[in-house]
Amino acid sequence: CGIVGIVGREGVAGHLVEALRRLEYRGYDSAGVATLEHGRLERRRAEGKLVNLEAKLAQAPLAGAIGIGHTRWATHGRPNETNAHPHATKRLAVVHNGIIENFRELKAELEAAGVRFESQTDTEVVAQLVSHLMDGGLGPVEAVAAALPRLHGAFALGFLFAGGEDLLIGARHGAPLAIGFGEGATYLGSDALALAPFTSELTYLEEGDWAILSRAGAEIRDADGRAVERPRQTIATQA
Ligand code: GLU
Repeated sequence: CGIVGIVGREGVAGHLVEALRRLEYRGYDSAGVATLEHGRLERRRAEGKLVNLEAKLAQAPLAGAIGIGHTRWATHGRPNETNAHPHATKRLAVVHNGIIENFRELKAELEAAGVRFESQTDTEVVAQLVSHLMDGGLGPVEAVAAALPRLHGAFALGFLFAGGEDLLIGARHGAPLAIGFGEGATYLGSDALALAPFTSELTYLEEGDWAILSRAGAEIRDADGRAVERPRQTIATQA
């Protein structure tokens, strides 16, 4: 139900939770974050309120200067920890708002190719599809470019890759997604409110856009893969 992502400085987990708290108004049944620790994907997820996730993080802190976070409003699969986002393979983690309408077909196709699923969600097909394309030799950007046209429905996505210390990918297809620009940090968020504590410089992705984020900024592409410029806005929201 809410997406955040930060590629910035060490200690990103706390900021991810802070941003998720600002998306609480949308409602949610579970929450989770993933970061890279020395290039390795690590995640913490919890059923219920953000305080449950915070308790887990207090017990088992996550280091890392890059990460993604999510509050989930379950549409496919019960609201438990296994179905909570981020969904991950050894290669990548993904957070997702909305619905992948053709997930059953994609899941059947991937299962026929030997892929094993862990959750009951529509979201996990995105993680497994991109991972499978990377197994076939594609890099993260190429794999996402190849996967996006195969996903039907209204959704927004955020991707984090094992070993990708300076790379987040966001995609908008029927659900809003904004990019925030900070000093040596770049952000993804479902809305301006989530990012207000960190930056007031925003670009909203347009329908079909996807974006490659690094600490230095973002490269935005349209649905055909062409590099595009989108207007930057200065948001007056108070932190
Ligand atoms: N359809 C996804 C799920 O049920 C995402 C729901 C959401 O937007 O939070 O996990």
